[in-house]
Parts: sequence; C-alpha cells; structure tokens
Amino acid sequence: MPTVLAPTIELKNVTKIYSTEAGDFTALKGIDLRVAKGEFLGIVGKSGAGKSTLLNMITGVDHLTSGEVIMRGDGKDTSVHKLSEDALALWRGQTLGIIFQSFQLLPMLTLIENVMMPMDLCGRYQARLSRERATELLMLVELEDHANKLPAYISGGQQQRVAIARALANDPPILVADEPTGSLDSVTADHIFDVFEHLVQERGKTIIMVTHDNSLGPRFTRHVQITDGILTKSAAPVERLKKPAPGKVKGKSTK
Ligand code: ADP
Repeated sequence: MPTVLAPTIELKNVTKIYSTEAGDFTALKGIDLRVAKGEFLGIVGKSGAGKSTLLNMITGVDHLTSGEVIMRGDGKDTSVHKLSEDALALWRGQTLGIIFQSFQLLPMLTLIENVMMPMDLCGRYQARLSRERATELLMLVELEDHANKLPAYISGGQQQRVAIARALANDPPILVADEPTGSLDSVTADHIFDVFEHLVQERGKTIIMVTHDNSLGPRFTRHVQITDGILTKSAAPVERLKKPAPGKVKGKSTK
C-alpha cells in the first residue's frame, strides 16, 4: 500500500466571526482545505470574499472562532491556534515565509541587509553565513548585482523579488503570498510566477497564494474559489511542465 502523506496545510471547519458595533459578521463559514507538500495553491476571490482572513487563520496572525488549522511543514503536527504567542512567533519564523502585495522592505536597509534581517532575528545562521546565504538568495532572484542598493532605487518587480528572497531567508517549507503580483504589470507578474514555480518544482516548497485576479487560475497547480467566506470550487491539480530555473532563464527582463 502506498503511504499517503498527511497534508502540509489542513483546515478543518474553520469559521471566523468578526464582532463589530453593527453586529457579528461571519467572514469564514466552515472552511475545509487540505494542501499537499509541493502544491502551488491559488485562492481566488473578489475583494471582501475572505482571502486575507483565511491567510490570517493559516499564519495564526488572527484568532479563529472555531475549527482547527494544522500545519505540518516541518514534519510535525502543529495546531496553530493552540500555540502560545511566543511559540507561535518562533514557529512562524522557522516555518513560514510571508510575501505581501506592498513588498514591505525596510527602506533604510540595503537589499542584502533586508534579506539578512530574518536570519539575524532568528539566529539560525552566524553573521558571515547569513551574508553568504543572502547573496545566494539574491542570485536566485537575479538581483545579486543590486545587493547594496536601497529599495527605493529598484523597480516594484525587483522589490517583490527581494521580498521573496527575504521570505526564503530561514528556508521555510511553506510560503504564503497575499496578492504578491497585485501591484505589478503583467510581464513583471509573470516573472514572479516563474520564481514561485521554480521554488515549488526545484526546491519542494509549498506555496499558498491569494489573488482577486481570476485569470491567474491556470498558473497554479490547483486553485480554489472563495465567495462570501465559502470555498466554492476546487479544481483538480494539473501537471505542469518543468521550466528552467529563473536564474538560468535567458533573455528574461529583470524589471
Ligand atoms: P478579502 O481579503 O477577500 O478582500 P477580507 O478577508 O479582508 O476579504 O474580508 C472578508 C470580510 O470580512 C469583508 O466583508 C470584510 O469587510 C470583513 N472584515 C475583515 N476584517 C474585519 C474586521 N477586522 N472587522 C470586521 N469585519 C472585517
């Protein structure tokens, strides 16, 4: 009998109710979701559908109302919402890389310092090693020549690639991306997808990404639709052609 691996990300009947002055609002209505290791899962939905709320449940940034989120990226079962604040911060630092639409690089730090920062905070790598590792990660996203620039001096697409390098700093098994291509033009967004596909195919990462852009569905290995706090469609995983590593893509724009 083949061994069936437990999903890397598992949500069981997750609900989230926000209490507001106008009354209670149910933003997530019993979400069940299982994401396997090595999937590049897209969660697609309109503004207000519940995408950010769902990500906040997965990352433990916000409390859930009922249900359970179990994460197994590091090989152990972690019931995210049962962790203490300190344990949650440690688990998040080691297991998750988070990428935002607005990049959120620190403007006073150079690109390489931005990538080194999570390593220095986590203490997993010595200072010399963290610089070496940051250089390798900047090479992965083809920005090693810009290592000593400040973020203001590179384009939005380049900033997002630095943010991906930073998210990889502590070698997390799982990446969580919140509209990472939302403020980029389509060519630049395409290059970001190439980087994600490489990370899934060559480095075995599991990626979960939310977007409002329906047209991006085919770019994921699987995508689900979220509407008014309910997952409404779960497309079957698709076999994807292997692409060359981003660092080896000839003639690619480095915008
Ligand atoms: P999306 O990311 O898909 O745009 P959100 O998860 O941000 O959607 O929001 C889902 C719903 O929950 C929306 O109707 C939003 O207004 C509501 N909501 C989000 N955050 C809060 C909050 N802190 N308090 C009350 N309602 C909220």
